[in-house]
Amino acid sequence: MSDLAVFRQQTRSWLADNCPPSMRTRMVPGEEINGGSRRRSSNPEAYLWLERMAARGWTAPTWPEAYGGAGLGKAEYMVLLEELQRIGARPPLVGMGISMIGPTLLEYGDEAQKSRHLPAIARGEVSWCQGYSEPGAGSDLASLGTRADDMGDHFLVSGSKIWTSSADRSDWMFCLVRTDRQAPKHQGISFLLLSMDSDGVSTRPIRLINGASPFCQTFLDNVRVPRENLVGRLNEGWAIGKRLLQHERSGLAALASGDTAGPMERIQPAQPLGELARRYAGGRPAPAVRRRIVDNQMQREALLLTQRRAVEEAEADTPGAATSIFKYVEANYVQDQLDLQLAIRGLRGLGWEGEPFDEEEQRMTRLWLEARAISIAGGSNEIQLNIIAKRVLGLPNPPAVQGSSREQP
Ligand SMILES: Cc1cc2nc3c(=O)[nH]c(=O)nc-3n(C[C@H](O)[C@H](O)[C@H](O)COP(=O)(O)OP(=O)(O)OC[C@H]3O[C@@H](n4cnc5c(N)ncnc54)[C@H](O)[C@@H]3O)c2cc1C
Repeated sequence: MSDLAVFRQQTRSWLADNCPPSMRTRMVPGEEINGGSRRRSSNPEAYLWLERMAARGWTAPTWPEAYGGAGLGKAEYMVLLEELQRIGARPPLVGMGISMIGPTLLEYGDEAQKSRHLPAIARGEVSWCQGYSEPGAGSDLASLGTRADDMGDHFLVSGSKIWTSSADRSDWMFCLVRTDRQAPKHQGISFLLLSMDSDGVSTRPIRLINGASPFCQTFLDNVRVPRENLVGRLNEGWAIGKRLLQHERSGLAALASGDTAGPMERIQPAQPLGELARRYAGGRPAPAVRRRIVDNQMQREALLLTQRRAVEEAEADTPGAATSIFKYVEANYVQDQLDLQLAIRGLRGLGWEGEPFDEEEQRMTRLWLEARAISIAGGSNEIQLNIIAKRVLGLPNPPAVQGSSREQP
């Protein structure tokens, strides 16, 4: 038997013994673990699953063992993902720690930063948020104005970040700050790690159209950040910040596993779309609806298979500019699928609360509204198309059009 076949057999048997029953079902909102203590999962078995997976290094399987991973190579990692998918296992840990700042620190962090942060992330002990966008800097991110004054052994950071997802429930923030106001805008930016417990940090939740408040405006008022929290070199944070965006758009795990806790799964109705359509149409859905269901399902399969191929073929942990294609297609898929559910349910797809709408109808209305944001978060659809045009297809910039800084090389 080959080494890989032995690994598969051992993995299958370990998962059979160690994956708790409720962790083999579709993710239930509120049961996922993002890390840290400020957001608790409502399912105790989620913690058991996290503990067991973390002890094997399988919350971050490709990270080196010294940093809390399992040091798996690509082939073994794919086997692990296949075996997890085979039993419908949930990811033990989600969030920006494991999917964004972790891989970025592996690439750009110094030894002290890696030893301090990566094992804690892999064990799910800390949660992270992203301090990129500002009231005047979104697509044109390099216009950011939050300043960090160099005081020698520390920086003093002042300014405000906006749309900071889960800032009020995070332990740490990774952020882009301006450290040189004279330099050209991409060259005066640095990448800092900032404890959310620092004096001078405050957050104000912002309410979304679906009634939830997943993000905040974050205020930074003379926050003291030790110099050891500077990642990479002073004024050279732009390249690091952009690399992190590639991880955000499509991390390896999310790509290859079909992101079992991600938006494509969260929007699935309790019963398959075909059955849902029959139920709401009294047994005979219209041909146009049937055609949309088939189109939507083909789109989903094609996307998942293409993502998987990209991961298998990628040399690095995250494919480069092509991640923009996945982000763009996924955003369209999610919005189309929710529009389709609305078409199927008709007026019952617009229930906000209470009778006569059942729980799933209400949940789907809110998801349908929430999903408007998916083509904006992490870089808008238009920005992804610009990246695809320039970095994937190699098309030239039209002379009169200024590029957005989120796309800069
Ligand atoms: C749910 C959600 C969560 C988020 N979480 C975070 C977070 O945790 N941390 C964080 O830092 N940010 C976060 N964001 C912010 C997000 O990254 C920005 O909203 C996004 O980059 C767009 O920036 P903006 O909102 O300032 O829009 P703008 O940049 O003002 O854009 C407005 C419109 O103009 C279009 N546009 C702008 N420039 C161009 C161009 N060059 N070519 C073509 N069209 C263009 C855009 O596509 C958009 O339609 C989140 C956003 C959402 C919706």
